[in-house]
Amino acid sequence: MLSIIEKLINEHGSSAILKERLELVDDKYRALEAKLANTEKENELLRKELEDLRRQVETQKIESGFVDYKGAKFKKLPSGKFEEAVYCRNCNGGMIALESCMPFACGSCGSTASFKGGQLKSVINELNQEYT
Ligand SMILES: [Zn+2]
Repeated sequence: MLSIIEKLINEHGSSAILKERLELVDDKYRALEAKLANTEKENELLRKELEDLRRQVETQKIESGFVDYKGAKFKKLPSGKFEEAVYCRNCNGGMIALESCMPFACGSCGSTASFKGGQLKSVINELNQEYT
C-alpha cells in the first residue's frame, strides 16, 4: 500500500513538474509568436518605405536627366540614349580627356572621372544597356 501511495505521489509530482514545464514552453512560444508578428509587420513597413524611396530616386533621375556613373554625370537624351558627353559631378561643368590615355577631367574644378578618353564609347554603351 505504501509503495502504491509513494508511486502516486511521485507520478503526481512529476506530472506537476511536466505541466509547469509545458506552461513555460507555451509562454515562450507565445512570446516568440508575438515577436515574429511584430517583425513581420515591421518588415512590411520597411519594404513599403524602400519601394517609395526607390520610386523617388527613379523619378529624380528622370527629372534631372542626369545619371551618376563612374565618377561623372551623363545626360539622358529624349531618345532614351545617353549623350556622348561627360559632365562633372561637383559643378556640372563639361569634362574632357586631353588624350585617349588620360582620364576625363573637369575644365572648371579639376575633378576627375574614373575612366579615360578612349573608354568613353564603352562607358556610354554600358549606360545605354543599364538605364534603358
Ligand atoms: Zn567640376
